Amino acid sequence: MAGNREQTQNEPAASAAVVLLSGGLDSATAAAWAREQGFELYALSFDYGQRHRFEIEAAQRIAQWLGVREHRVLRIDLSPLLHSALTGTEQVPRGRSLDAMSQGIPVTYVPARNTIMLSVALGWAEVLGAANLVIGVNAVDYSGYPDCRPEYVAAFEKLANLATKAGVEETLRFRVHTPLIRWTKGEIIRYGTERGVPYQWTHSCYDPDSSGRPCGQCDACLLRIKGFEEAGLKDPLCYPKA
Ligand code: ZN
Repeated sequence: MAGNREQTQNEPAASAAVVLLSGGLDSATAAAWAREQGFELYALSFDYGQRHRFEIEAAQRIAQWLGVREHRVLRIDLSPLLHSALTGTEQVPRGRSLDAMSQGIPVTYVPARNTIMLSVALGWAEVLGAANLVIGVNAVDYSGYPDCRPEYVAAFEKLANLATKAGVEETLRFRVHTPLIRWTKGEIIRYGTERGVPYQWTHSCYDPDSSGRPCGQCDACLLRIKGFEEAGLKDPLCYPKA
């Protein structure tokens, strides 16, 4: 789709996309999907005071692997506002069953996170003249997050076209792409592996040790481990022995 079109430095292709890249497995896979669609990629990562700052380094390596046109890391410290286990001192739950994970909104929820991130992505997309936003949310394996649901994504897409000059003047028709939203973790991993996504660089753990090694017990680790099992593939990350 991108073809061999001539471009000047400040003129993105009509098919440019701003991709939210967290350094996790899902966002890396969603970005690989976007590249396969022929979108020219502009990656956006947030350093929001999260505990797992290794994710930012992972995002940088993945952005390089993707060959993005530009990667921005925005520092936005939300920690004074949050009581989430990802940014505060609350214990990250460990060893939970899938049933327990699907009950209610988990303690790892970060208030309004996807809305904050998508809003910044939207602003950058409008500046770039890019009509596409890509986010690796998933509503299958882990339905507790309100801002990972299809109805949320549809509402944000509507807002994007109402809330921007480019939307109102119809110079751009914004779309929010969520390629993974209905895939199981196993399907996500299989898709990404077939495209060579470097999962050895991705971070999923909510509670890694000081060198960034995953705990193997938090919800994110358990879902990732289960996903690789479902896909019949070996997770390149090393987990502590149980
Ligand atoms: Zn973990």
